[in-house]
Amino acid sequence: MIVRYTYYMDRLHQLALDHQLDPVWICEGLERVLYINQAGRSFFGIADDAPLSTVPALVQRLENPSLLIGYTGQVLESGTQKQTITIHRNGQEIIGTLNGTRIQNAGSATLAIMGFRDESAFVRLQQRMTQDEFFDRATGLLNRKVLDIMLELEIEKVQRATGEARLAVFMIQIRNLEQYRALCSQVVLDHVFEHIGNCVRQALRSNDLLFRYDDGRIIAIVTQYEWKSDLLIIAERLEDQIAIPFHPQDTDIHLQSCIGMSLFPEDGETSYVLVANAVTALNHALETGDSWLLYNENIHKQALDRLVIRSGLSKAIKENELELHYMPLVDRSRVVRGVEGLVRWRHPERGLLGPDLFIPIAVHSRIIGAISRWVMFRMASDIDTYFKDNNLFISINLSARDFADNYLSESLESVVGSRIDPSRIKIEITESECMQNPALSIAVMETLRRRGFQVVIDDFGIGQTSLALLRDIPANTVKIDQVFVQEIVSKPRELAFLLQIVKLCKLRDMEVVLEGVETEEQFALLCESGIDLYQGFLFGEPDLPR
Ligand code: C2E
Ligand code: CA
Ligand code: CA
Repeated sequence: MIVRYTYYMDRLHQLALDHQLDPVWICEGLERVLYINQAGRSFFGIADDAPLSTVPALVQRLENPSLLIGYTGQVLESGTQKQTITIHRNGQEIIGTLNGTRIQNAGSATLAIMGFRDESAFVRLQQRMTQDEFFDRATGLLNRKVLDIMLELEIEKVQRATGEARLAVFMIQIRNLEQYRALCSQVVLDHVFEHIGNCVRQALRSNDLLFRYDDGRIIAIVTQYEWKSDLLIIAERLEDQIAIPFHPQDTDIHLQSCIGMSLFPEDGETSYVLVANAVTALNHALETGDSWLLYNENIHKQALDRLVIRSGLSKAIKENELELHYMPLVDRSRVVRGVEGLVRWRHPERGLLGPDLFIPIAVHSRIIGAISRWVMFRMASDIDTYFKDNNLFISINLSARDFADNYLSESLESVVGSRIDPSRIKIEITESECMQNPALSIAVMETLRRRGFQVVIDDFGIGQTSLALLRDIPANTVKIDQVFVQEIVSKPRELAFLLQIVKLCKLRDMEVVLEGVETEEQFALLCESGIDLYQGFLFGEPDLPR
């Protein structure tokens, strides 16, 4: 086993593991330690040249060895484990995260890859934070003494986390604090500071970190947000919360806030730079009279734009600013077999907006459900008016959010009614949305099909799980993404690749649609391909029904 293992273990991988600052070890059952990195050797107190033996021997120098043996056993038995544990070594408590992954190859022994990250410093700091030393009595927030170290730790956490790094520093100032400072008694001012602390706490999540930065300014470290425009929503919430008038000791207090924000990593990678840039943004906002500003002007504009779109969407639905355009799908003889409905927003100031500008925002802000219902109604009414021919199908696009709606198929059924044959309706969902929750997608597709609707996997081939999807998903149709057709004229390999994708889909008895056909040359190359339907600017662009 060791020989086989060493054979497989690329030297580079080993070097990478050896350079890890955290202990990592790999064992086969409990009886054999196959590998331990340098950090692991020093952690467990094993000499560099000492041979490896069993897991119990590895952990024998700890004062509570049975803990690690037990967890390793659990990993070997039940798979991945992640636990916060306390290890006792040399009379010291080491608190950290133990991470274990089981690897079981058919026919071979079970391996466990174990790693431990010492988080004692962070945990101790958290414990100390409950002590007065780090608290600002007036606001009940943390004080500036711990800001730098906490911010650095948060930055490190974000860097370590998988996925996109997100961290924002909010520098919050009360614009009109000086006015009250001059007028009010100390008792009232105490209430004011307490109120500010409460407002900030209420507007943010419990795991956002809050600090009194100086006399009139508060810092918040925000790590849980999806989009930058979410930060503006948080800023708006903060502003609203702080602006609620209150009356300590019969004094009317009406505070106005101003917020500057900087982002990691875009605006700085250290706590010093992030705080400095949040201050710059704040000062800029104080000058311009803005309620909040992001340090980076471009990021600010983009985030603001999203926010404006988001707040305009509900009005767009109510005031009938949405339009459903249709694009034809043709067979190989160019006979139109169906249409796809594609939504647009006729914006009163900005003109006709394409779905890419607002659908992702609608999905994120959950307005998508209302848009999808609008699309369903529009489609049903357009079928009655423009698409009476029973041989023509109509497809619409739904999102993963719609699939999570328990009443989706009922809603569709009631919109379509008894006069429209449900098999004329195709529901398109993209491959990537489908894979957000494969089990749910499969269940919804099955329900839709039971009720007579058809289901299409859209943008097929650009996801990371296309082949698995093809095997499991109960769709009627796959629509191959436009990227696969773009270069088929100039590159024979691209054509061959596309034809193979078509073949694969056909093996699963799926109807195959190709989208994005723009030229006669492309179409000519595909006449023997077996593709059932084509869509693209060559055959017609999306337009209002006539
Ligand atoms: P999709 O469903 O993949 O729609 C096809 C998009 O490709 C459409 O863009 C269409 O205009 C464009 N297209 C089609 N043929 C060609 C071609 O030959 N060349 C080029 N360059 N483009 C072509 P559109 O209308 O901007 O829609 C973009 C995406 O927005 C759609 O991609 C769909 O994912 C989403 N979408 C559109 N309407 C709705 C809707 O009602 N609900 C939801 N959830 N999403 C929608
Ligand atoms: Ca589509
Ligand atoms: Ca598509």
